[in-house]
Amino acid sequence: MRCPRCGLENPDSALICGRCRSRLTSPAPSGTSPDRLTLLAGISLSVGILCAGAVPLVIYGGFGLPLRLLLLLAFGGLAAGLILFHVFGNRDGMREDFAVRMAWISWVALVALFILITIHPPFIRPPHNPPRHTCINNQRQLAIAIEMYCQDYELRYPTAFADLADYTVARMYTCPDSGGGYGYNGVLIGHAQNELANPAATLLTADSHVADIVFTAPEQIARDRHVERRQRGFFASYGDGHAVFVLHETVVTLESVWQSVE
Ligand SMILES: [Zn+2]
Ligand SMILES: [Zn+2]
Repeated sequence: MRCPRCGLENPDSALICGRCRSRLTSPAPSGTSPDRLTLLAGISLSVGILCAGAVPLVIYGGFGLPLRLLLLLAFGGLAAGLILFHVFGNRDGMREDFAVRMAWISWVALVALFILITIHPPFIRPPHNPPRHTCINNQRQLAIAIEMYCQDYELRYPTAFADLADYTVARMYTCPDSGGGYGYNGVLIGHAQNELANPAATLLTADSHVADIVFTAPEQIARDRHVERRQRGFFASYGDGHAVFVLHETVVTLESVWQSVE
């Protein structure tokens, strides 16, 4: 009988292959052809290995692929391929060299994926927040915090970021691009929200080289902090809560037009 693994011709009475020691069984009658199973296992393993290989690319390369789906495909593909391989592995024609190698690579990929996910959970956080978006989100959240503060203090603006402690968390104060932080428009201090004539044009916060400062001059804004579409600039939030990228050369004033409130 021919060994299904190494192809050595063994005596018909042999139960174990003389060269590779694998079990010699007569081909089990099966509805599914072994070749198709081999192909199926091969495809599953290939998909699994490709997806597992793409996981680090997505995590470290900043590609916007949905990581959960990729992980699911990687685990599913590897598991399906390995199950097919191990359950039907002893059947005729299944344990070909490429399948054996593929199964080994799959085990390594599966274990590596598992280690990556259990030991480094922060690394599998979906990378939907590249640094610049974290910065704009930070300032959007600071603008919301300022809004909430105003609602709680008769529309009066806070005197510094320190006043916002109850409405914010520490990470909102750091610009992820350089470790710098944000400044708060000092012109607002002593004024109330309903005194602003044009909230959408009044600066609330902006990137700053020095963290947690109160701006007294527009030069304190870190105008060179971010690059978007090859143009330098900074992120800032405004009195109506919107946050945008502002080009380096844009004229920015801290001043605001006030309206009298009766
Ligand atoms: Zn053999
Ligand atoms: Zn920033």
